[in-house]
Amino acid sequence: MGIILEVQDLAKHYREIRAVDGISFSISRGICFGLLGPNGAGKTTTVEMIEGILTPSSGQIMYQGLPIGPRFRRDAGIMFQNTALQEFIKVREALELFRNFYSRTRPLEELVAKCALGEFLERDTHRLSGGQRQRLLLAIALINDPQILFLDEPTTGLDPQSRRNFWGLINGIKKEQKTVVLTTHYMEEAEALCDLIGIIDNGKIIAEGNLSQLQKTISEN
Ligand code: ATP
Repeated sequence: MGIILEVQDLAKHYREIRAVDGISFSISRGICFGLLGPNGAGKTTTVEMIEGILTPSSGQIMYQGLPIGPRFRRDAGIMFQNTALQEFIKVREALELFRNFYSRTRPLEELVAKCALGEFLERDTHRLSGGQRQRLLLAIALINDPQILFLDEPTTGLDPQSRRNFWGLINGIKKEQKTVVLTTHYMEEAEALCDLIGIIDNGKIIAEGNLSQLQKTISEN
């Protein structure tokens, strides 16, 4: 399958705070990797370093065998935890706006179908329910037809039904052989979506494996 993303001894320190304290993992192409951990564990800091938003204090991040650079930026799609959407803009207009930023884009109709946006395309983005807003943000993350998709706590705050609906969309995206990197503090979310899970706490990965490996580790301890 081949490793698409490799993180080696990555750390981010803010004075005495060790937000991320030397973590390493490798992600094979086409899998869904989940960073599972409580609030403040270091999930967002980790993915934001990979995404190039935060500068690491130390460590290495390799995409397809090379330090992250223009190729990574072209291939990556990001769904942030909090994205500010422009005011007084309809869902369709938001998608069109973001499409202008990329040379390679996915057809609008495809994004609408993939993310189930059909019912509210003409609605103001500030009048969406939590689940609808997350579906729009997912569509925006998919606009450049990314090879690797980052989802930072995509279902936090959603009701159980909307969360399940969202998982259905992610499973649809996984079927396209895309690599997905997901952070979550919901065990059920990691169970429903992830092929490989890293459990993160206090800036360190304390266990890693697929679901059954992790269950075995837990039952043995
Ligand atoms: P959440 O689920 O709440 O988003 P998280 O696992 O994503 O949590 P991070 O946001 O990565 O956690 O934060 C990790 C730790 O680093 C926390 O203790 C946080 O308070 C601290 N931290 C994050 N950013 C900064 C900063 N700019 N300055 C100081 N400390 C920070």
